[in-house]
Amino acid sequence: MATRVGFIGLGAIGRPMARHVAKKFETPVWNRSAAKADAFAKETGARAAKTLQGVIDLADVVVTCLPTSREVRDLVEREGLGWHAGQLLIDATSGDPLNSRELAAWLAKHGVGFVDAPVSGGTSGAEAGTLTVMMGGEAKWVEMAKEVVSAFAGKTVHVGPAGTGHALKAVNNALLAVNIQAAGEGLAALVKLGVKASVALEVINASSGRSNVTENLIPQRVVTRAWPRTFRLALLNKDVGIALDVLKQTGTPADVTSVVKRCLADELEILGDQADHVEAIKEIERRAGVEIK
Ligand code: NDP
Repeated sequence: MATRVGFIGLGAIGRPMARHVAKKFETPVWNRSAAKADAFAKETGARAAKTLQGVIDLADVVVTCLPTSREVRDLVEREGLGWHAGQLLIDATSGDPLNSRELAAWLAKHGVGFVDAPVSGGTSGAEAGTLTVMMGGEAKWVEMAKEVVSAFAGKTVHVGPAGTGHALKAVNNALLAVNIQAAGEGLAALVKLGVKASVALEVINASSGRSNVTENLIPQRVVTRAWPRTFRLALLNKDVGIALDVLKQTGTPADVTSVVKRCLADELEILGDQADHVEAIKEIERRAGVEIK
């Protein structure tokens, strides 16, 4: 049973997840910008480690929540970093399956377990502790991981071997991106035809085209013109790139996903690295010459 759970990466979603972990376990934390780790320690009573090794030495289980698998591997496989046999790394990053399988094999050589455990539910789900967590890995490590991720999860599912959690997350986010793009385009056209956005959404949300995008994201963020920044478009673009790789590697058609990936990449170039994923609709509005409201 884990009692000490280190947390690495206190970003937009990592911070509220770590807050739940710190309520249940002794939680040493590390963040690239030390000020965030210090602020977290002050708020929760957790310990801010000065170095990565400081977290690893003080933890039975380490959770990473970083932008991509590249940052995870750069940190975890860093030369001179000493992992201890019997430890477990839970990677909550929306990472890529190939990297995760390689990382699992590298850690196994040191007797360390690996579970990819990406999350869905956004920063509000993280605050509420109701995230969906999809886990890939060996059953004995997933059992151990479940105890930890339950701190911030409403639902946990063991989906398959290492890497499959990341594959499933990428496919989920490709669906999110398709919905943002298609709903943005369709609603822009309807508003131009004189249909109020609220009326169009009322109908769609009682019909077969509804999704989280039409039920929640567009009413709460676009129609209100609130445009909060909770999940960067750059990260969604990364996820759809991973989904494309998964489709290609499995010899599956990728026609729709390829087109949406191109749209996201164009929107990202115009809107910039800090733009939120829903702001992709701003760019659709600009090109259509209409506001969805
Ligand atoms: P942010 O960009 O808000 O935070 C990224 C975190 O990673 C920060 O702690 C940052 O440190 C750290 N970091 C970035 N680069 C490096 C590096 N080279 N070395 C060490 N640390 C680094 O991202 P999010 O928290 O939004 O996302 C984290 C992961 O969770 C991503 O994979 C994302 O796709 C996924 N996710 C996010 C959701 C959301 O709603 N935001 C929803 C579901 C999944 P620093 O503070 O120094 O910048």
